Amino acid sequence: MSTYLRELEGKLSNDPFFTEKMNGGGGVDGSVGMRRVWIPGPVIVGAGPSGLAAAACLKQRGVPSVILERSNCIGSLWQLKTYDRLRLHLPKQFCELPFMGFPVEFPTYPSKQQFVKYLEDYAEKFDIRPRFNETVIEAEYDRTLGFWRVKSKRGRFEETEYVSRWLIVATGENAEAVVPELDGMDVFGGSIKHTSLYRSGEEFRGKKVLVVGCGNSGMEVCLDLCEHSATPYLVVRDTVHVLPREMLGRSTFGLSMWLLKWFPIRLVDAFLLMVSRFILGDTARFGLDRPIMGPLRLKNSSGKTPVLDVGTLAKIRSGHIKVRPSIKRLKRQAVEFVDGKTERFDSIILATGYRSNVPSWLKEGEMFGKEDGMPRMPFPKGWKGESGLYAVGFTKRGLLGTSMDAKRIAEDIERCWKADAKLCTPTMQSPPST
Ligand SMILES: Cc1cc2nc3c(=O)[nH]c(=O)nc-3n(C[C@H](O)[C@H](O)[C@H](O)COP(=O)(O)OP(=O)(O)OC[C@H]3O[C@@H](n4cnc5c(N)ncnc54)[C@H](O)[C@@H]3O)c2cc1C
Repeated sequence: MSTYLRELEGKLSNDPFFTEKMNGGGGVDGSVGMRRVWIPGPVIVGAGPSGLAAAACLKQRGVPSVILERSNCIGSLWQLKTYDRLRLHLPKQFCELPFMGFPVEFPTYPSKQQFVKYLEDYAEKFDIRPRFNETVIEAEYDRTLGFWRVKSKRGRFEETEYVSRWLIVATGENAEAVVPELDGMDVFGGSIKHTSLYRSGEEFRGKKVLVVGCGNSGMEVCLDLCEHSATPYLVVRDTVHVLPREMLGRSTFGLSMWLLKWFPIRLVDAFLLMVSRFILGDTARFGLDRPIMGPLRLKNSSGKTPVLDVGTLAKIRSGHIKVRPSIKRLKRQAVEFVDGKTERFDSIILATGYRSNVPSWLKEGEMFGKEDGMPRMPFPKGWKGESGLYAVGFTKRGLLGTSMDAKRIAEDIERCWKADAKLCTPTMQSPPST
């Protein structure tokens, strides 16, 4: 078997893709048949920051990889699904990918355009060229052969099966928009859109808009609407920790990281809440009740991120943004809330978050949870599964977590890559048939 692999790898030294047609030419329906492609290194699914970081770390260790990306660009979440005014929520030094810092001339919180430029420069620096417009529709470990079979679709008919010893899942915690089922959604006469489709408040000028969800995106969209002369209302269904983005002249995130080196998490939480109250006042007075658990402990236990305020709270305080309770049902041009009140709205924006899409394509029962598509093992153990399966960017710790995962994965695969293929490929009996 290892001789077979060596032969294949020999062929690949000139041609990065060794390709065979499985079904020959076009079918009666015009399909071009499924190709099978042997990949000597890992297959990475997703060309967001996590996929790029994994590919760069592997490259630094001499391991080639192939990235499959469903969209037509790198960092598609940032390029195609975020609003114009978005900036990194955390200071740039906490969002660097491995081996490349942000340019010194970039501000502490780079804009979306600057972050995309950084990703493009990163891909160029490490000569990473993803295969775009390829959606992975299925991936399964073939126990008989000891390989991952990764099926992708390009357009309506073109299907390819990539065969590889390693599969790195980099499809992100935010792969699909979460759109709740609201009673009366079909009768509401105004527009309803998820924040992934929201670009700017310009199109809502003069309109009364209900924003559902009070995470970082919902709060920032409300602020953007205010700045475009719309009238935003914010639905707050749950408790939420709002912290100032900066405190005592430092970023709240940076200060928290530093304090955690010296003090227990409960004490740091108490300190953050005390300073927040001093700077922002009692948020409960504006309808934003705090959870019982402190912000850092809550983040660790449930992954719920505190909102870093960039000016929204002042607008709530001044009455430019009004807080409303949960929605009971939608009517033709109005919304009925659970407190029994009904108000007219022109539009609804759903800042209801995202979810992983891993269960929809990865046929595997151990590493990822079926419900949430997240690794079952808590951080920092969620990056490695069985049989050459890895996950990058599922730590609920943003880009800092991505960097940690990418470095660990590359180190692990390099060990295997360098060792005899025989030792690294369990239960191999025959070459992948075509
Ligand atoms: C509005 C917003 C602001 C944020 N700000 C910050 C911040 O300031 N700091 C921070 O650290 N984090 C931040 N985050 C967290 C965010 O998750 C990361 O910034 C980052 O984008 C995660 O990178 P990723 O590569 O893991 O996932 P993504 O960026 O989501 O990339 C995943 C890629 O996989 C592709 N993909 C998905 N499914 C398939 C499939 N089946 N086949 C092929 N390709 C597929 C997608 O098209 C996408 O390109 C923010 C998130 C959002 C939504």
